[in-house]
Amino acid sequence: MENCIFCSIIKGDIPGDILYSDDRVLAFKDVNAQAPEHFLVIPKEHIANANDASDEALMGRLSITAANVAKERGFAEKGYRLVMNCNEYGGQTVSHIHLHCLGGRQMTWPPG
Ligand code: AMP
Repeated sequence: MENCIFCSIIKGDIPGDILYSDDRVLAFKDVNAQAPEHFLVIPKEHIANANDASDEALMGRLSITAANVAKERGFAEKGYRLVMNCNEYGGQTVSHIHLHCLGGRQMTWPPG
């Protein structure tokens, strides 16, 4: 989609620190990391947010990819947090659905 920063990363028009890529999803480091480990997993097709998601297999692929990348990076056993923000109250700032994976430190609850 035009003017979507994550679509631009998928196309290679802007750089991303890519951790994993396959036919349907891409994982890359968050540019403004909120934990020692912080990456995003996105679908390669443009879906704005969780309200627009309908492909169960694709949504499952996002979570499984996050777990696999966390394992590869060696922080899965200690644990991590998966977060998907949706729209204004969820704090979503980029309108291309993405799953955050945060790890490498103790998380707190409740989230802000
Ligand atoms: P959210 O606030 O849930 O929409 O998350 C968007 C995330 O995208 C934020 O954590 C940003 O730091 C991250 N982000 C924005 N632009 C880029 C970029 N070019 N490369 C990597 N991460 C980005």
